[in-house]
Amino acid sequence: MKTLFISSGQSKVLCPENHNYKLFDYPYYFIQLYKRFGIRALIKQFHFSRRRPFSRGLINKYAPEGFGIEIGVGFFTIAPLKRTILTDGFETHGSDNSIATDYCKADDIMAPDESFEFVLSEHVLEHLSDPVRAIKEWKRILKPKGKIFLFLPHKERTFDRNRERTRLAHLFDDYSMQISATDTTHLEDWIRNVIRPGLAPQYKSIPAEKHPELGLIHHHVWTDEDICELLQILDFKILYSIDCCPDRGDSFVIVAEKN
Ligand SMILES: [Zn+2]
Repeated sequence: MKTLFISSGQSKVLCPENHNYKLFDYPYYFIQLYKRFGIRALIKQFHFSRRRPFSRGLINKYAPEGFGIEIGVGFFTIAPLKRTILTDGFETHGSDNSIATDYCKADDIMAPDESFEFVLSEHVLEHLSDPVRAIKEWKRILKPKGKIFLFLPHKERTFDRNRERTRLAHLFDDYSMQISATDTTHLEDWIRNVIRPGLAPQYKSIPAEKHPELGLIHHHVWTDEDICELLQILDFKILYSIDCCPDRGDSFVIVAEKN
């Protein structure tokens, strides 16, 4: 694929040809942050927990160059900004408070096949009713040998701790049934084990039956072993995985390569 340079603020970055993306720029980010959350939020960006040196280092180690895309960025990113398109999807869960410059569904991305050197996604897959479909889509837009970086909540260290691990067979059933994005199969389990015990107080004011349509529910519950196995079935090679991310303790991390 040919590439072209486009301007992003003061810097120039290499983009896939025929892209239709806006790129991130720092002034926009900091102005938005200040406008929405004030000076404290701005200062917080420089705190250790936000800098995330381990996680950023991982991305730069396994994808030291080339252009990538973050799926479901929300209002914070560890992506290398000058070479990453930041996308978001859920109107309520993400977009209202999002620094994304592009909006798309996580499993329906407006990009040609083999567009990117890397795909980054942090705490998104658990909000999708059909993660197999999403990962296949992310694989489609990756170049051969492209890398995928997944940061996901570990079931033992989040409000999902009382729930059963999701079996891989269930994920493939969801995929073969082309399950709806607002699927309510797991709603009862979510209410019984997370909402009623008060483990997710941030969602308390929102009626639980609305959680699937708002993208708040964690449909499925995993450990790093589950997702490594899933990626291997989907023809990725695992390059790195760690059960507990050193700078985000509720998460495991997996780096995998498209075969
Ligand atoms: Zn399911």
